Amino acid sequence: MKVSIESKVKFLATNPDLCLGCRSCELACGAGKAAKYTPEERNSKRPIVPSIIVTQAQGLNKKIPAYCRHCENSFCLQLCPAKAITREHGAVKINDDKCTGCGICEQGCPYGVITMTSYKVNERTKTLANKCDLCLDRQINDRTPLCYTACPTKAITLHS
Ligand code: SF4
Ligand code: SF4
Repeated sequence: MKVSIESKVKFLATNPDLCLGCRSCELACGAGKAAKYTPEERNSKRPIVPSIIVTQAQGLNKKIPAYCRHCENSFCLQLCPAKAITREHGAVKINDDKCTGCGICEQGCPYGVITMTSYKVNERTKTLANKCDLCLDRQINDRTPLCYTACPTKAITLHS
């Protein structure tokens, strides 16, 4: 039986009881992003921003990872005037080639998980929105997201 890509792609969940706050997920995500940068982006020193950030949990005396929920009615996707945000195989994804860096998505995300970064290309400042895309390029090739893979306690889990 053929398995559709949509049914293969998994979403992230966190078990706060198991999270050590060690930031292995964050480091793995950042390293994965850096590995995909083009030579031009590396030469221009495009900042490396992890899409999962270990932060103080509301109502808990500990830190846990924060990341995009890939909301069903995603404000970021609806608000983007450049139509740079799309849903692919269930994941809400920012397309760098269309992003104008206006920051409206960052302001509209109720979970605060979009980060704007700027860098210089040929003397001009380029600004882009950054967030989790569920490591779609890995998942469609039957590999798990980097944060999930790196977590030493399996505090990050995958679900359909
Ligand atoms: S960036 Fe924010 S609004 Fe957009 S899908 Fe993720 S959690 Fe939802
Ligand atoms: S910053 Fe980019 S992705 Fe966000 S709303 Fe503006 S154009 Fe869209």
